[in-house]
Amino acid sequence: METDYLIVGAGAVGLAFADTLLAETDAHITIVDRHGKPGGHWNDAYSFVSLHQPSAFYGVNSLPLGHDRIDETGVNQGLYELASGPEVSGYFEKVMNQRLLASGRVQYFPMSNYKGDGRFVSLLSGKETQVHIRKKTVDATYFGTTVPSTHKPQFDVEPGVDFVPLNELPHLWKRSQRMPKHFVIVGAGKTAMDAACWLLASGADPDSISWIMPRDSWLLNRLKTQPGIDFFEETLAGQADMMEACALATDVDDLFDRLEACGVMLRIDPSVRPTIHRYATVSTGEVAQLARIKHVIRKGRVTSISPTSVVLEGGQETFGEGTLFIDCSASAVEDRPAVPVFQGDLIVPQMIRLPQPAFSAALTAYVEANYEDDTTKNGLCGSIPLPRTLELYPRAVLGNMMNQLAWSQDPKLREWIRESRLDGFGKVIAAVDPTDMSKVAILKKFRSFAMPAAANLTKLIPPS
Ligand SMILES: Cc1cc2nc3c(=O)[nH]c(=O)nc-3n(C[C@H](O)[C@H](O)[C@H](O)COP(=O)(O)OP(=O)(O)OC[C@H]3O[C@@H](n4cnc5c(N)ncnc54)[C@H](O)[C@@H]3O)c2cc1C
Repeated sequence: METDYLIVGAGAVGLAFADTLLAETDAHITIVDRHGKPGGHWNDAYSFVSLHQPSAFYGVNSLPLGHDRIDETGVNQGLYELASGPEVSGYFEKVMNQRLLASGRVQYFPMSNYKGDGRFVSLLSGKETQVHIRKKTVDATYFGTTVPSTHKPQFDVEPGVDFVPLNELPHLWKRSQRMPKHFVIVGAGKTAMDAACWLLASGADPDSISWIMPRDSWLLNRLKTQPGIDFFEETLAGQADMMEACALATDVDDLFDRLEACGVMLRIDPSVRPTIHRYATVSTGEVAQLARIKHVIRKGRVTSISPTSVVLEGGQETFGEGTLFIDCSASAVEDRPAVPVFQGDLIVPQMIRLPQPAFSAALTAYVEANYEDDTTKNGLCGSIPLPRTLELYPRAVLGNMMNQLAWSQDPKLREWIRESRLDGFGKVIAAVDPTDMSKVAILKKFRSFAMPAAANLTKLIPPS
């Protein structure tokens, strides 16, 4: 078997890369994945999951996701729609069937485990296939996404504990005689927030919920991430405020205080200072719901769970009979060091615009197709690691700014970004009427703080 590009992973990253590579080249592509369907971790997600960013700029470049509607009800009211998990899964199936396979230039091998060196093994037949790769291998597995239904918790769970991944929550109706009396959410990320919102929206009393929160997070305000001209005053003003905060902050705590003051960052409990930021994106409606849960346990990570108690790094908590422990402790995206994206005959797509894996993968494919050598390509695709600590946040913001600067100086790339559906903002900025003084003033503010922001962020980055 021969191919030009072998892509390992048919998740958002592998598919967004394949889609743009297909559009930009005549290459033949082979995609291998151990899941039975395209879409990666979305196949293992809980039924009530949704995107936490607008559908408008998620997925692949060639196919819209959703209908750019504004939600009229619920915690996302007034903001662009968020595709549900089933919608995302259906979308990726459509991408595979109607775009990639329909091109006649793509082969897809589901239920196949990649072993390295162009070899993969069918999980069902055990048959091994060797592929001769004419051009490159693309490792679209680098984020190592983990979700509660497939991960192994990092703590002990004694036999007899009623412990389930949050995927089980909608199935509780089947337990008519044994309905839990109390719920304990284990984990503090976006998944835990989804579990809490689901419980509350489904009728659980806030006092029947305890929330184990090892660390409080700064959360991105979804209002400030809305695409489209109607939200210019929120999104672009948010970006301008962010530049101002980055330019003037005296240290990282001051930076987050400023970002909170201008509404870019949110937190659930105003009396507790967050110690982490993982780019979870929420609405103020979600925050208001989450704040209804009063029993929040801040005693570090869980070390073990028995049927009626939890041992944590900082102490123990006891609960009554009939307690359901809900596992939301998977890390979602793994902490991995940034490596060069282009490495000879290997491409490792990573975040080159944080936190947008799909845009990043599509742009990486565009660069692969249209630029010559790895030095030039890596110059346009500087990888940005997810900040493990708040102290590393300035480095991530600066990484985004440096890549954006490099793209803006390349007319071809600038044009591609502006036309890309995965970029929510370039076309909005380009469409600003020069006589609209309020929008012009926002752009002016953004531009005037950009260089001072870059200079100040450099000072805020801790020495490595
Ligand atoms: C609940 C949740 C919600 C999210 N919401 C958003 C959002 O709104 N916006 C956003 O931008 N990001 C979001 N993310 C982040 C998310 O990680 C990315 O959007 C994206 O889906 C990750 O895609 P991926 O292709 O990197 O990983 P995956 O979806 O995990 O895909 C990787 C694929 O590689 C395959 N694979 C791995 N190793 C091998 C091997 N050896 N052989 C064969 N196959 C292999 C796996 O089977 C998997 O299908 C969310 C994450 C989670 C968990």
